[in-house]
Amino acid sequence: MAGEPQADCLFCKIVAGEVPATVVRETEHVVAFRDINPQAPTHVLVIPKAHYPDAASLAAAAPHLAAEVLAEAGHVAADEKADGSGYRIVFNTGSGAGQTVFHAHAHLLAGRGLSWPPG
Ligand code: IMP
Repeated sequence: MAGEPQADCLFCKIVAGEVPATVVRETEHVVAFRDINPQAPTHVLVIPKAHYPDAASLAAAAPHLAAEVLAEAGHVAADEKADGSGYRIVFNTGSGAGQTVFHAHAHLLAGRGLSWPPG
């Protein structure tokens, strides 16, 4: 059922505390933690605690929750003092775009120059 925890989902396990993570922000519905393989000095993943496989399914089923994920990404950027110099929020969607964990998540990247287009 949409939003229910999935036994084989890594990020559901982080939400449940079964896999450790370096959490930087947490609300009732959203958690933000540092990426284990950072691609920038600041690389934080912002996820809904409820399980949706990607950003589009999250936005379709729970638009307020999708908005909260985006808002929390902005708060992380401010916490990391990245809101002045600029930052990037990325939702890889589908394996062809590099999605490897099928629990919706925003990448918040900051702290270095970010070229465009991304690879
Ligand atoms: P995706 O490739 O867009 O799906 O992003 C998944 C991200 O999860 C990658 O940037 C991984 O480095 C990150 N990741 C995988 N396992 C962990 C973990 O246990 N803790 C934190 N980040 C992780």
